[in-house]
Amino acid sequence: MNYKLPNKLRTTVVGSYPYFPEALKAFQLRRRGDRGPEYESLVREATRKAIMDYLEAGIDILADGEQRREDMAVFFAEELEGFEISEPVRIFDNVYFRKPVIVSKIAWRHEILVDDWRYASSLAAGRPMKVTLTGPYTMYSWSFDKFYGDMRRAILDMAEAFRREIEALVRAGATFIQIDEPALSTRAEKKDVLIAGEAFEIMLGGLSNVKRITHICYGKMERLFPEILDFPIDQYDFETKNRNYELLDVLKEYSFDKELALGVIDVHTSRIEPVEEIMDGIARGLELLPPEKLYVKPDCGLKRLKREIALAKLKNMVEAARRVREELA
Ligand SMILES: [Zn+2]
Repeated sequence: MNYKLPNKLRTTVVGSYPYFPEALKAFQLRRRGDRGPEYESLVREATRKAIMDYLEAGIDILADGEQRREDMAVFFAEELEGFEISEPVRIFDNVYFRKPVIVSKIAWRHEILVDDWRYASSLAAGRPMKVTLTGPYTMYSWSFDKFYGDMRRAILDMAEAFRREIEALVRAGATFIQIDEPALSTRAEKKDVLIAGEAFEIMLGGLSNVKRITHICYGKMERLFPEILDFPIDQYDFETKNRNYELLDVLKEYSFDKELALGVIDVHTSRIEPVEEIMDGIARGLELLPPEKLYVKPDCGLKRLKREIALAKLKNMVEAARRVREELA
């Protein structure tokens, strides 16, 4: 099965999708330490449904909806050497908060995402299936460090661990690897950006035949420049719609000429952006880059939205990209 990607304005998603009931049930089992066959089949069913929605919307480059991840930091901490997870604290109803705690040297133990990627790919109808990993800077920021007392050393060890995982994914056939670093823009002091850069070099340096992506959102993104442009990244995936595309001016200032995944859907509102409004957003991106280098996607993951809203937003986004492509043809 081969799907022909458009050569302009390809559509994609950041990663997460609203949790299906099967995923919520799987989280309950996992919290009790039960990762048996029932847990696995619930996760797979939720994943299948998320991918079916992405396909129904018509997305070109898919993700698996992150239905296995109740929390994007805890999920990886549970699989790596060096972490413990704090006892769950109930915030309200059935919302629990747990935090990774670093207790020894961080290292890679076993494959984390490879089986899920294979399964997701088998449902992708020939489309590329992107892999998303929570980056080491964000992992560290959202953890409690009882071992290193040195942010850089912890982050670089984590980057080494993720390099092993990324190599396993590439061997399995993954071609789109995305590192999510939402915490990087929250402080974005120069020393943080430089440490993150070292970590990216360890994780992605020298990898060929792979699209290397980073997703960053919120915070003071302009403070990541210009250093972030030297990271071994092929495609920068940013939140832009939510701030009225102000970041594009920063990119212009630095003569940005890499690939840009442009956020054209605001994930913080249930309002469904009309097709014309999204087309205007794409036009803003086209002032900066040719359509071959511009990808169209929501600002961030969709998990906080209601499923119907998320799906409706994506459908309008795909339609907007299609119409702009037609206008360009
Ligand atoms: Zn985000």
